[in-house]
Amino acid sequence: MGPVLLSLLLAAIFAAAGVGEAVYIPYNTSAGVVPGKLNVHVVPHTHDDVGWLKTVDQYYVGSNNSIQGACVQNVLDSLIPALLKDENRKFIYVEQAFFQRWWRNQNDMIKDTVKGLISSGRLELINGGMCMHDEAAVHYIDMIDQTTLGHSYIKEEFGQIPRIGWQIDPFGHSAVQAYLLGAEVGFDAFYFFRIDYQDRDTRKGTKELEVVWRGSKTLGSSADIFAGIFPKNYEPPPGEFYFEVDDSSPVVQDDPLLFDYNVEERVNDFVAAAVAQANITRTNHIMFTMGTDFKYQYAESWFRNMDKLIHYVNKDGRVNALYSTPSIYTDAKYAANEQWPLKTNDFFPYADNPNAYWTGYFTSRPALKRYVRMMSGYYLAARQLEFFKGRHSSGLSTDSLGDALALAQHHDAVTGTEKQHVANDYAKRLSIGYTQAQELVSTSLACLTESGSISRCSSPMTKLSQCLLLNVTYCPPAEMDLTKGKSLVVLVYNSLGWKREDILRIPVFSDSIVVHDSEGREIESQLLPIATASLNIRDKHVKAYLSITPGAKPKFWLAFPVSIPPLGFNTYFVSNSKKSAHMSSKSSQYSPQGSESSNLQVGQGNLKLQYNAAGTLSLYSDSKTQVQANFEQKYKYYIGQDGNASDPQASGAYIFRPNGTVPIKTDGQVPLTVLRGPIVDEVHQQINSWIYQITRVYKGKDYVETEFIVGPIPVDDGNGKELATEIVTNMATNKTFYTDSSGRDFIKRIRDYRSEWKIEVHQPIAGNYYPVNLGIYVEDGSKELSVLVDRSIGGSSIKDGQIELMLHRRLLHDDGKGVAEALNETVCLDKQCEGLIIEGKYYVKIDPQGEGARWRRTFGQEIYSPLLLAFTEQDGGNWANSHVAKFSAMDSTYSLPDNVAMLTLQELEDGSVLLRFAHLYEAGEDKDLSTLASIDLKRVFPEKKIDKIIETSLSANQERTAMEKKRLKWKVQGSAADEKVVRGGPVDPSKLVVELGPMEIRTFIISFDHQLRSQHQ
Ligand SMILES: [Zn+2]
Repeated sequence: MGPVLLSLLLAAIFAAAGVGEAVYIPYNTSAGVVPGKLNVHVVPHTHDDVGWLKTVDQYYVGSNNSIQGACVQNVLDSLIPALLKDENRKFIYVEQAFFQRWWRNQNDMIKDTVKGLISSGRLELINGGMCMHDEAAVHYIDMIDQTTLGHSYIKEEFGQIPRIGWQIDPFGHSAVQAYLLGAEVGFDAFYFFRIDYQDRDTRKGTKELEVVWRGSKTLGSSADIFAGIFPKNYEPPPGEFYFEVDDSSPVVQDDPLLFDYNVEERVNDFVAAAVAQANITRTNHIMFTMGTDFKYQYAESWFRNMDKLIHYVNKDGRVNALYSTPSIYTDAKYAANEQWPLKTNDFFPYADNPNAYWTGYFTSRPALKRYVRMMSGYYLAARQLEFFKGRHSSGLSTDSLGDALALAQHHDAVTGTEKQHVANDYAKRLSIGYTQAQELVSTSLACLTESGSISRCSSPMTKLSQCLLLNVTYCPPAEMDLTKGKSLVVLVYNSLGWKREDILRIPVFSDSIVVHDSEGREIESQLLPIATASLNIRDKHVKAYLSITPGAKPKFWLAFPVSIPPLGFNTYFVSNSKKSAHMSSKSSQYSPQGSESSNLQVGQGNLKLQYNAAGTLSLYSDSKTQVQANFEQKYKYYIGQDGNASDPQASGAYIFRPNGTVPIKTDGQVPLTVLRGPIVDEVHQQINSWIYQITRVYKGKDYVETEFIVGPIPVDDGNGKELATEIVTNMATNKTFYTDSSGRDFIKRIRDYRSEWKIEVHQPIAGNYYPVNLGIYVEDGSKELSVLVDRSIGGSSIKDGQIELMLHRRLLHDDGKGVAEALNETVCLDKQCEGLIIEGKYYVKIDPQGEGARWRRTFGQEIYSPLLLAFTEQDGGNWANSHVAKFSAMDSTYSLPDNVAMLTLQELEDGSVLLRFAHLYEAGEDKDLSTLASIDLKRVFPEKKIDKIIETSLSANQERTAMEKKRLKWKVQGSAADEKVVRGGPVDPSKLVVELGPMEIRTFIISFDHQLRSQHQ
């Protein structure tokens, strides 16, 4: 028989067998959970990055497809008809930044349809923030803000409260995510997959991929959450179940009239995948995550195949397959009434193979990281000022900055793991948002200084301006000519709830300056010559970023002490003076040669630093605390592994893989220049041609401030480099150090060790790096060495007594994790590009054992919320006649307790106010401050009367009491620990006192009596 005849014959047989069925098959997709069977929860989903290889808008509209064929609009457009086709089909959507872009383009008919799908649970909005934020390089305040933005939108538009955390892609997971952005927002469970491969292998063996995660030592079981770790990734199970139109997996071919009928094979593949997963999972429920990045652009293709799989698998009967969502899955897990293993601490660092530690991104794009952190603190302050002014009194708002910041928290944004053009897009959005917020801030401050009270005001006479580029010594309003009798007015705003003493620095031209405070008193000030290294970066960056050529270079930093009331401002006046009792002192300048620097001492107050003959720091001593320590500070770089063919894992945007450590050579002696004066001593050092550093000791302060200017990192030798600074002491720290979790709880780290599983060490440096957002410290039983940072950064203690921070990275190879670009940032001017220079600060303090928390917490909050400066000028000296020079929005004799920060004060669109307080201390961290704190709201808002106060979940989308009632309480294996969790009690609406237990964050929506407000106008 020839081949033609055979196929004709076969076709005839199939046609005969399939009569009736081949026309229309009603697939039965209605299965729910079946007790006693293995239930396979088929969860259709798409993972849509709000920027990565393309910008968020390019991903949305589907442009720039030569980079990546991805169009989120296609996903959402095709999803709706696909869901309508069968009422059992379900889908989850996660990223609100995309969903909102789509929603505002829809007509009423589609909107009604989608609302129906959402309210019936067929389309579920989960996670619910604007993006799926990162968990290592993101500060907890930003996590809260971006989640609140998304959740409030979902509540308003759809009346929904997301139940499930879905952090499926971030590169490691923080304790703060579990307890704060999980339990405290009311989530019942939290799903993800990126944990260390060795940890995963261990958990598979012991069926511990699903756990109860207790992220907070202080809040204990009251903030437990169910955490599900996917066995492999967030994609369909092994066995080829990808059904995008261009995917290569075999579709389910069940038409007997056609060739390649494969129902049995596909059912067998499905059952095999289910059984394999069931073997490593507790209970008879498993989840198939059916989707991955930017999938469902033609949703019907996926659903068609899943319909068939569910239909035929259930006909087969070995397992039960059902359309499901993470909520349905979570409820099924809960109903199983199982006791779950307990997980504490976090899931950092993440490695997906022995040489791939995802610890490089803790530092990648350090300038973007700093920009995000600056904007974060600014946004907090700007919303306060927006509230003081009144949200509706003009078109200015902080909304655009809030949106830009939300996007910047994405796990390919602040992480530095996006392509360069996408990083530029995030920065552009921040810049636009900042520009609007800045105008609002200036207007609000002008209103306050003109009226001295919180009242609606929109067009004040006083024109204030601000200086974003003060870090490169660029501040045009301060560059005014003071010689003609004018003076510079500096309005200094403090967004913290406590009074603050600080030192300001402003660039000036004149060397005969006098500074007056708001009561007309002359105050002490000091002039410090501006380092050439600072001036060199000024002109270039002003031109590169603002496209303007800055004017003449200022000569000095003017430093003077300021004292600012809580939630308020004070005003200072800088003018020219030839003769005055408190003329600014010019710093003495001294450059010791050779051995002259031996035993050189700096510091005018209690804290003294001593240098040795080589020009390096040798001793730290504090006469007040009696702390003394040998102390060295130096630089080194790691050579980035180049990933050559035989060993392909390179160091890159995600991965830190050092191939050798090179100390920065100092040729015997680093020349020092010492500036001394009444306010601050500075030691300037050009460490090498691309590292400049200034070490400062302020007279009234008991910590060391180090400013660094690093770059361009030279790569002409063909090696990428990752620069770290080290602080080395002789403290015996026993492999142990502590790093913060997303800027909040400190977690104990032990070198080459994991507390919950046994690690085989392959990367002794990269595998001991952790994210640092607030700080890192070590202790030896008699003292604590703490280092605080100005942005998110990678850090470690690689040797006992040592702390290191990775400040900057410049690499020449892609690390193969998807971004397909080397992390080689440059700044271009007139078509000439050179490596990025970064400027920043870190802060060091040594305290007696047990006393370090106060500085880490209180000063840490001051680093996050720097004083906000606004400038104007006055002719003559009668500012006080027409302006209020000193102001506090709170009762003038009140301040928040030392252990409390106001995280949010924001007027919402409906006129109500979002108010959020955080206790800054963990239980047992400080003998005085780890205690219940209370806040007297009547004194926080002395001019207003609170009508109504409702405590809400952390993301403000539901009442706290309702959330607590509803939230699932999971059982933990082993006996219940005896724990005492302190939380504040309910707020009595007549007393209006808010209590906070250690580490507690409480969120309120308050309404003011508007009658009272209008009386004040
Ligand atoms: Zn992603």
